[in-house]
Amino acid sequence: MSAGRLAGFRAIVTGAGSGIGAATARRLAADGAQLFTVDLAGDVDMTVDVTAEGANAAIIAAATDALGGIDALVPCAGVSAFLPLEGHDDAAFDRTIAVNVTAVFRLVRDALPQLKASGRGRIVMIGSVASAFGDAGLVAYAASKHAVLGMARAMSGELGGAGITVNCVMPGAIETPMTAPAFTDMPEYRTHWEAKAALGRLGQPEDIADVIAFLCSEDARFVTGQGILVDGGAMTRM
Ligand code: NAD
Repeated sequence: MSAGRLAGFRAIVTGAGSGIGAATARRLAADGAQLFTVDLAGDVDMTVDVTAEGANAAIIAAATDALGGIDALVPCAGVSAFLPLEGHDDAAFDRTIAVNVTAVFRLVRDALPQLKASGRGRIVMIGSVASAFGDAGLVAYAASKHAVLGMARAMSGELGGAGITVNCVMPGAIETPMTAPAFTDMPEYRTHWEAKAALGRLGQPEDIADVIAFLCSEDARFVTGQGILVDGGAMTRM
């Protein structure tokens, strides 16, 4: 870790009340960044549902007010549910897309003036191994995470001229409040992912946060439009 490498850097982290978002907020702060944190509840700067009408404009306005500008967006707020295709509920599908995709699109769009003014803008989206693969019960989630990777790639082309990098971190199986029930209730699920990872373990939120911090840093200045698997090697093996 290089202390202070993000000194003066101003970042919005959504989903910062839990799991990967909380670890990311801690890591960016440890590197010297100033943060504006958002979640539905908890110890954050702003409690709001990112899908609510006008939420994104309100987040951008409040963050700009508090920090004096915005250099980075890290939209970690996300939802996931196992929903078999047969009987898959419209509302659950729509909710997954609204949180994981539409809210991210709106946040980026509404932050463009600040990101362009920054001169070193960074957008780090949170995809998933489900940005590149799919599995039973994950139709809505995989659709949303494939969309996130597609948005990152498309936006990188559109925003590169303004010096803004856009990347998508794709975590494997990470132990967070989102996944804890599945890993606890289904020990075979935990064993499957531990065995699948070349490194032989589940990931921790910090394993993802550290890569996000790298992508925000000057060291990653020539990295854009990338989907980066951070999965302990799980998806590289047959
Ligand atoms: P988590 O449940 O611990 O954290 C997600 C946070 O997002 C929660 O604090 C929640 O309140 C917040 N959130 C959800 N909907 C919101 C809304 N509408 N408005 C505001 N905040 C909202 O889960 P996590 O595992 O830390 O997930 C973070 C991101 O990482 C998600 O996008 C998830 O899809 C992705 N991800 C997680 C894993 C994993 O194994 N945990 C793997 C791949 C990708």
